[in-house]
Amino acid sequence: MHKVYTCDNIMLAGLVKSRLEGSGIACIMKNESLTGGIGELPPIECWPEIWITDDSDLSMAERIIESMRNLSTANSSPWQCRCGEAIEAQFTQCWKCGRERPD
Ligand SMILES: [Zn+2]
Repeated sequence: MHKVYTCDNIMLAGLVKSRLEGSGIACIMKNESLTGGIGELPPIECWPEIWITDDSDLSMAERIIESMRNLSTANSSPWQCRCGEAIEAQFTQCWKCGRERPD
C-alpha cells in the first residue's frame, strides 16, 4: 500500500482514481466520507487520499498523476502563499494554511 495522491477536492481525487484504474492499477480512496462540513475547510488529514494496493505500480502511478498535473497546469503557474509555502499551480488554495490563491 502506498499513498500516491491527496487533495482537498473529492472530484479531482476521484478523477485520479478512475484514471489509475483505467490503466490497470488497483487503488482505493481513503477519507472519502470524512470531508467537509458545509463552509468548513476539512483539515488536511481528512482530505481524500488515493492509495495503490500494489507498490510495484508506484512508478507508473506517479507518471500518470504527473501527466494529469501537467494538463491541469497548462494555463497557470506555481504560486507562493503568504505563509511562505510554495504551491503547485493546480491548487487554488494553500494546503498548509488554507488561504485562497491571491488574484
Ligand atoms: Zn499558506
